[in-house]
Amino acid sequence: MSVSAFTAATDTGRKRRRNEDAYVVAPPLFAVADGMGGAQAGEVASKLAAAAVEDTDVGQLGGVERVESLFQEANRRVYEASTADPTVSGMGTTMTVALVEGASVAIGHVGDSRAYLVRGGRMEQLTDDHSLVAELMKSGKLSPEEAETHPQRAVITRALGTDPDVDVDAFAVPAQDGDVFLICSDGLTTMVDDENILELVEQNGDDLARAAKALVAEANKHGGEDNITVVAFRIADVGDAPTSATMTLPAAGPEPEPASAPPPPPPSGSRSVPAPRTQPAESRVRIAITMAVLLLVAVLLVVWGFTR
Ligand code: MN
Repeated sequence: MSVSAFTAATDTGRKRRRNEDAYVVAPPLFAVADGMGGAQAGEVASKLAAAAVEDTDVGQLGGVERVESLFQEANRRVYEASTADPTVSGMGTTMTVALVEGASVAIGHVGDSRAYLVRGGRMEQLTDDHSLVAELMKSGKLSPEEAETHPQRAVITRALGTDPDVDVDAFAVPAQDGDVFLICSDGLTTMVDDENILELVEQNGDDLARAAKALVAEANKHGGEDNITVVAFRIADVGDAPTSATMTLPAAGPEPEPASAPPPPPPSGSRSVPAPRTQPAESRVRIAITMAVLLLVAVLLVVWGFTR
């Protein structure tokens, strides 16, 4: 899987004076951090965390392990800065990270920013909010309607940088061609409900940048009470990339029609050979796999043709 498109939009909103959200758009790595703390401390915390995601060398680690180690490093940097400088003491930040690797997307999460997956016209929230209202809802003490207007709905129960250690939710989501992942701060999700978010993503179809802008505008339309940040990216199946494969495979389609007549083995031979010659050297492995698949399809077609 690879990232075929990505975008980010952030806005101070209509009530706050500063934007304390930060984001990372460094494919295959994406993140949103929403800082908290007095004065400008929130801004410091979210920026430190985002920088750690972008510039930490985690060596050979991959997937979920890599995401986890990015959180540990981000936590170390924010915590050390807050203990060294009294003006930012106690600062912290939420952080939600996505890393596209292989056939899945590794997600790491602390706080009440969110990751969503839009697939096949539906949207799924991938992360659990670490917030007071989410915990009250889980224990049945609060209804979703009450949570929406709860005076303490911005209170989070887990943050990055407030303690020497951080407990990270980290997991991998198997990805599919066409998946759209959204990462956003609570400034979006407290102003715009899930149905409305999905609607705006679907309405803007291929144009992720326009979708992100529309989401920010919608949050502002509903009051814009907090900073709003949206990061979005789309997944493409790299197996589709070589045009030779996509051009060749449909050729197998028409064959079944005349198959009741004489068996047609010759086209299958020409199908698998010429395509790879024009491919650049670096995609040899992919070509080998493509050829093997095409060869298998050809053999199956020939066998199928004979057995009819
Ligand atoms: Mn926020």
